[in-house]
Amino acid sequence: QATDTDTYDVVVVGSGAGAMTAAIFAADQGMSVLIVEKGDKYGGTSALSGGGIWVPNNHYFKAKGGNDSYEQALTYLKASTEGKVDEARLHAYLDNAPKMMQYLEENTRLHYTVAEKYPDYYPHLPGSLPGGRTLDPELFDTTQLGDEADNLMPASPTTLLMGKIAWTARHAHKAMARERGWRLLMVWLMLRYKFDFKQRRKTRRDRRAALGNALIASLRASLIDRKVPLWLNTDFQELVETDGRISGLIVKRDGTEQLIKVRQGVILGSGGFEQNQALRDKYLPQPTKVEWSATPPGQNTGAALEAGQALGAATELLDWGWWAPTIRVPKENKSRGVFAERAFPGAIVVNGQGKRFVNEAAPYLEFVDAMYKDNAVSGGQSIPAWVIFDSKFRFNYAMGPLMPSQVMPDSRLPKAWHKTVYWKADTLEALAGEIGVDAAGLADTAKKMNAYAASGNDEDFQRGGNVFDRYYGDSNVKPNPCLAPLQKGPFYAMRMDAGDIGTKGGLLTNERGCVVREDGSEIKGLYAIGNCSASVMGTSYPGAGSTLGPAMTFGYIAVNDLVSQR
Ligand code: FAD
Repeated sequence: QATDTDTYDVVVVGSGAGAMTAAIFAADQGMSVLIVEKGDKYGGTSALSGGGIWVPNNHYFKAKGGNDSYEQALTYLKASTEGKVDEARLHAYLDNAPKMMQYLEENTRLHYTVAEKYPDYYPHLPGSLPGGRTLDPELFDTTQLGDEADNLMPASPTTLLMGKIAWTARHAHKAMARERGWRLLMVWLMLRYKFDFKQRRKTRRDRRAALGNALIASLRASLIDRKVPLWLNTDFQELVETDGRISGLIVKRDGTEQLIKVRQGVILGSGGFEQNQALRDKYLPQPTKVEWSATPPGQNTGAALEAGQALGAATELLDWGWWAPTIRVPKENKSRGVFAERAFPGAIVVNGQGKRFVNEAAPYLEFVDAMYKDNAVSGGQSIPAWVIFDSKFRFNYAMGPLMPSQVMPDSRLPKAWHKTVYWKADTLEALAGEIGVDAAGLADTAKKMNAYAASGNDEDFQRGGNVFDRYYGDSNVKPNPCLAPLQKGPFYAMRMDAGDIGTKGGLLTNERGCVVREDGSEIKGLYAIGNCSASVMGTSYPGAGSTLGPAMTFGYIAVNDLVSQR
């Protein structure tokens, strides 16, 4: 039996970036607000992310003389979303995203900078920009959190240099693209970490949080400034509706059921359903597996979706994920996303027939979408797909957990990784045999790619043919920074699954962030943000930060709507 012990103006469910942003705005509007988080750490997938936020027409870019406009961004968003998203929601996003970021920058501990050279993901579409819309977090000193630093979801080793050292997206890009001075930068980052004696005596964890960890840590510190309570180990279960309005919610806190009443509303920010195999089987294209997700195990299981559906909420995009190819590593509890490495010159991705089926450098959503499409026509040959590269590539570039062999030779790789994470053979033919890929098909593909590398022109998929592909290419490689031959054995293969960084579909909301029914009527007092809501981006991924940007922006919008109703 639930006991009624607490009443707040607003309760926010989940502690990802959108949820925390909403709670900050609510507190600043004089509302009493509580955050409930199911996990024993706060931050969700947001804390493991790159922390990039896609905000067209933002003030950071303008301050640096950048050129963007509302109209240009609208043109781009309309083209990306192909008319599938209600225009009022696109306007709401474009109106509010820059305001939301400016407010946070000026009134909280969150600090961002503009990625001037990070291109939009669809450079061929009208209104796209070659940079200036993605914002990256600055490093954040977690000592500002005091004891709450221990409750921060630890960053994923994939996002840290050598699995432990904090670096910004700018640093990571410089190293990956092997820009001038990258070696010096690496040494400086390593020394800074090593000689932080005060912190090293206490823990291996870097005092600086980076990327998504910096985003979440800075939001959490700003919530502490505002004395906003955050209950961990508190599992949201059901919504309570009274006289046609949300009046509360039932949670299980440390195992005990409790009713929390709300005066104004509930903002659901409890993520998608990617950690729920039954819902994956029900809604997502097949095959699909929880283990392929790069998100924290057991957390986002679709609680908001099911609670909203129980009240008659409409849903959209349930058959879509924020797709990303992933690699599984033994002993790690989630898969690792492969975001940038596919563009590096000299790696190709093939299906079981040894054939390429996509531009390897394509945005991660499109890449996995292509895996599903090719899987359907090739009779199940592309899931998994295989990334193949030679020893020259292996020496120079990272691929998933394999750091370049110049810093991490094969002899230093964990033994358990051989034939689980990577396969290796002296010839391409032998490698094909090891992984069960058609050897003649692979030989043919490699021959073609070697010719494309020489001419600089990928005649099949135009890899390296646009500014987005080239962003992660190697500028030292000519004539095409994304193409190099596969020639020098031993050769390597790694398995890529059709993974995700969250699901994309969920409760349908209107331009004010309010959850609606099929007939468009609002469920009064109920808001959904982030991956528990159907994405404002439709089936597209317009630029880096297209999931966190809307989550945070619609958190801001939802609170503004609550304010307007007071
Ligand atoms: P989350 O951040 O996952 O937060 C949901 C929270 O709700 C979790 O803490 C969960 O425990 C909690 N919860 C779930 N159920 C309940 C319940 N019943 N009761 C209470 N609490 C509950 N996106 C970008 O835009 N930019 C990037 O740079 C970026 N990089 C990424 C890199 C990686 C490696 C990964 C994995 C993802 C990345 N993403 C990025 C995607 C992005 O992190 C997610 O899409 C985003 O964090 C989802 O936000 P959310 O608030 O919906 O969910």
